[in-house]
Amino acid sequence: MSEQDFAGRVALVTGGASGIGHATVEGFVARGGRAVIADINEKLARERAAALGDKAIAVTLDVASEPAWIAAIEATKAAFGGLDVVVNAAGISFTSSVANTEIEDWHRVVGINQTGTFLGCKHGLLAIAETGRGGAIVNISSVQGIHAHAASFVYNTTKAAVRMMSKSVALSAALFQPPIRCNTVLPGYVDTQILAPVADMLGGREKLIAGMSKDTPMGRLVQASEIADAILYLASERASMVTGAEIVVDGGLTLPMHITY
Ligand code: NAD
Repeated sequence: MSEQDFAGRVALVTGGASGIGHATVEGFVARGGRAVIADINEKLARERAAALGDKAIAVTLDVASEPAWIAAIEATKAAFGGLDVVVNAAGISFTSSVANTEIEDWHRVVGINQTGTFLGCKHGLLAIAETGRGGAIVNISSVQGIHAHAASFVYNTTKAAVRMMSKSVALSAALFQPPIRCNTVLPGYVDTQILAPVADMLGGREKLIAGMSKDTPMGRLVQASEIADAILYLASERASMVTGAEIVVDGGLTLPMHITY
């Protein structure tokens, strides 16, 4: 990717204060763009934006709230004059099987991972269309949107929903002039803050990372910047005819057949 792929372009990245979202913000700005770090973690978002000078602003956003989305889009337009790219990276994990899932937890996880992505697609599409330069939406699913795990019941459900949501959005988005694209990235295991609750449950971070590395054919976890590279490709004009597509970045995690004999 060239240094200036995103010159004159503006991206709003949810979950942009941490992990995959933050790596995406850094990559977008490094390639000439300006970024809105839209995150519920106000303090961290402000720190991250300050580190990027006039190339980024922080916006406090709870992705599950439609009024908050409307305010975030207005803040983006006020600061940078328009919007070209939305990356829906905000997400939370939750460990529970179906029978143990309380309705409040269901609504919380669906609200952030699924409704949050829907609102980002809806308001992102409208704002990108209004800006009138074409553009792209990139949604973040997971390998857990492909393969089920009994203890990942709600997370599995939301991440599978994001995959189909992106395809349906891609069909609507293609009708705009200039067209807008929508694609999905499916990360494997990435060492970010989202792993912390699972690490606590499974005997610590070191043990978790060792187990995840062993499960991954490439022998290590994926780095957040390696996920960001796929996101930035899909966000760029280099992917001008790629829409409704998925890129799995998992070091081969989803490839092996599970044989128990
Ligand atoms: P992370 O915890 O480092 O970052 C998530 C960010 O989302 C945080 O900055 C957090 O403050 C923000 N966030 C949480 N709730 C929010 C809300 N309601 N509104 C706005 N922001 C909110 O985790 P990450 O690994 O960078 O996760 C990014 C995405 O990647 C998530 O959608 C996650 O499901 C997905 N993913 C991660 C992995 C992995 O192994 N790390 C694997 C597959 C998919």
